[in-house]
Amino acid sequence: MIDYIVVGFGLAGLAFVEELKKNNKSFVVYENYSQKSSRVAGGLYNPVILKRFTAAWLASEQLELALPFYKNIQDKLGESLVSELPVLRRFNNVEEQNLWFEACDKPILQIFLSSELIRNENEALDIPFLYGGVKGTGKVDIEKMLSLYVLDLEKKELLKKESFEHNELVVETDCIEYKGLRAKNIVFTEGFGVRSNPFFNYLPLQGNKGEYIIIKSKGLRLKEAVKSSIFIIPLGDDLYKVGATYNNEDKTPDITSASREQLEMKLRRFLKVAYEVIDQVAGIRPTIRDRRPLIGTHPEYNNMHIINGLGSRGVLIGPYVANKLYDFIENNGSLEKEIDIKRFEHLR
Ligand SMILES: Cc1cc2nc3c(=O)[nH]c(=O)nc-3n(C[C@H](O)[C@H](O)[C@H](O)COP(=O)(O)OP(=O)(O)OC[C@H]3O[C@@H](n4cnc5c(N)ncnc54)[C@H](O)[C@@H]3O)c2cc1C
Repeated sequence: MIDYIVVGFGLAGLAFVEELKKNNKSFVVYENYSQKSSRVAGGLYNPVILKRFTAAWLASEQLELALPFYKNIQDKLGESLVSELPVLRRFNNVEEQNLWFEACDKPILQIFLSSELIRNENEALDIPFLYGGVKGTGKVDIEKMLSLYVLDLEKKELLKKESFEHNELVVETDCIEYKGLRAKNIVFTEGFGVRSNPFFNYLPLQGNKGEYIIIKSKGLRLKEAVKSSIFIIPLGDDLYKVGATYNNEDKTPDITSASREQLEMKLRRFLKVAYEVIDQVAGIRPTIRDRRPLIGTHPEYNNMHIINGLGSRGVLIGPYVANKLYDFIENNGSLEKEIDIKRFEHLR
């Protein structure tokens, strides 16, 4: 009998697997590549909500945990995965600049917002007002990290590249049985795929589709991530991720020409040099209306658990909630009400 079955290997699955490894627990992971949220993500970690100039939920606590977490994976996998990346918020008018200064005075934001505004020196960009700079930001190459991690799991025969079929699961009081495999616990980290999970599909996961275009532009020469109505994120080799879109209606996994047009239209408003679109990607963010993750144990089965609802900030939230769930299951830890799936029990 193994300790855990983990279903899904995006940011949530990876974060929980890291907890298991740290605690010498045995496990097997199932992954069917049906969801792409983590693989297409921008990979930014940014403690500030740049629309409203407010701190993201538990930003300091999560950042403190997440940075060593990803650097440790980077060291173990022996490839560069994490890099500091300044984030510049383009102001649209003087009022926004003033709001930024007000935000800089708030104790919770002081450590993250620079009060020295930055003038745009890049002639490829039309930036009539100044930039506000965010501190403590960076980027994780999630796609590379997951791919390398998968290779390692495969080598150790800990990964099954197949769909987990929920109807084959037998839940007993002291164990879980799945196609001959027995485990003490099962953790579902399926992202938007949880909508097909009969045990947890009562949870109100909305889903929000996001698309990026990837452009090549020799003239842009941008070293920072610039946030205007969209993000431009430098990838190196004159490549940039531009986006993302936010769509609550379309839940299909495919890229769309409408999103490409929308992104290019926004980009052309402030990019003054030539570029070429070389790729486009799409994924569905696992979002919840109350903007808090979904963590906890099934109301009926005490060996069945979930991590979901990482929304649009999986890089920072993932390690934090994986640690919370592990502690909850193994050490009788507590779960804050605002993240516990118990808050949705009335929907069953
Ligand atoms: C366009 C876009 C940009 C983003 N940018 C950022 C960003 O810059 N920074 C940030 O912090 N966050 C970002 N996010 C959000 C972040 O990507 C999500 O919070 C995160 O990916 C959620 O991770 P997850 O593991 O819960 O879900 P997923 O990544 O969807 O992983 C779930 C996994 O489970 C697998 N699965 C599902 N069902 C089954 C089954 N039955 N059997 C086997 N496997 C199964 C899926 O194939 C998938 O690999 C972005 C998201 C999008 C879409």
